[in-house]
Amino acid sequence: MNKSSKIIDPGRSDRLRFAAWPHSPDDCLACGLCSSLCPASGIDGFDPRKVLRMVELGRIEELVEARWLWLCTMCSKCVVYCPMQINISDIVRSIRTLWDREKIPGDLHTGLVRALKTGNVNALSSQEFVSRMQAIADEIAAEPGFEGFTVPIDKEGANLLLTVHNKLVLRFPQDMKHLWKVLYLANEDWTITSENPEGSNWGYFNGDDPAAKILVGRIVDHMKNLKIKNLLWPE
Ligand code: SF4
Ligand code: SF4
Repeated sequence: MNKSSKIIDPGRSDRLRFAAWPHSPDDCLACGLCSSLCPASGIDGFDPRKVLRMVELGRIEELVEARWLWLCTMCSKCVVYCPMQINISDIVRSIRTLWDREKIPGDLHTGLVRALKTGNVNALSSQEFVSRMQAIADEIAAEPGFEGFTVPIDKEGANLLLTVHNKLVLRFPQDMKHLWKVLYLANEDWTITSENPEGSNWGYFNGDDPAAKILVGRIVDHMKNLKIKNLLWPE
């Protein structure tokens, strides 16, 4: 296959964006580096080399039905270490663009719809979100050495905008506390936002470009509106 050739006909789907990659799957040496370091390799039949081989053989329809394709976390470790610089995560994402949105496994599409509608995957109202953030801040303030701690919200001119990953809000608030405490001890000037605080981009993960653009645009708008130059995006 020619390196510049189009592996998938872009006419197949208006969601398909990457029709050609700088390095073809044909370049794969089958060295196995990607598989050996991939956190998802071996789970439910997922293997990055298998994805490449199926693309090379034109078995795209099967990939668009393979639920294991969604095990790829898009971490791009494979891309960093591949001696042929094959962008496997990009290839995986390109195939995801072809999926019927309603067939995407689990909560990935419905969570994305919630994030688009409400500003966060958890679908919390702004008031609920702020209330939860303040409760976490109160817990920190009760710890020795953190007396008087408050969470800065919508602070104009802060040095750092911090997005909030949905998992930290309801499931792992402890992790958020650790991060906030580090910022506090570092005397950092930071803020979160009361509206559209979501830090994960399931539009990117799902291969939904219009949605990904909206979510990124919200972060850009925050930075413009609050006059913030630096972003901490702990996705
Ligand atoms: S690391 Fe690169 S060259 Fe090696 S098997 Fe994986 S895709 Fe192929
Ligand atoms: S991007 Fe996907 S295939 Fe590559 S190492 Fe991460 S999980 Fe594995």
